[in-house]
Amino acid sequence: MQEVELVRSLLERLREAFASDPRRKIVGVRVRLGIGCAAPERFRAAFERLAAGTPAEAARLELEIIPMTFRCTLCHHTFRSDEALGECPCCGALGGEVLGGEEFALVDVRLKSAEDAAVNSLNASRS
Ligand SMILES: [Zn+2]
Repeated sequence: MQEVELVRSLLERLREAFASDPRRKIVGVRVRLGIGCAAPERFRAAFERLAAGTPAEAARLELEIIPMTFRCTLCHHTFRSDEALGECPCCGALGGEVLGGEEFALVDVRLKSAEDAAVNSLNASRS
């Protein structure tokens, strides 16, 4: 299953980047995901399942979902589609040359340090 492999590699990168400093907790992860690369809902489900016990277990996953862009091989029309194999709106051919929609990139990681958490709980107990 493609989604599980992608999530595993993402979590491994996060672990390598942040495990050396356990005071820092990952609170948000933003990923650009082309629908030709993985199904967003399955990617999210895999992330929620596999992030447990990693530095990203409390992270909120934000997905920038990129639709497919094709150039029709028959009529050369360029079109976007939410399907992994889109249908040309001009001639009805399926798919074509893929111009976009296979992206997979870690865009942004938001961190919360233990110091921040301590300050927040001090403020909370004071009020
Ligand atoms: Zn066409």
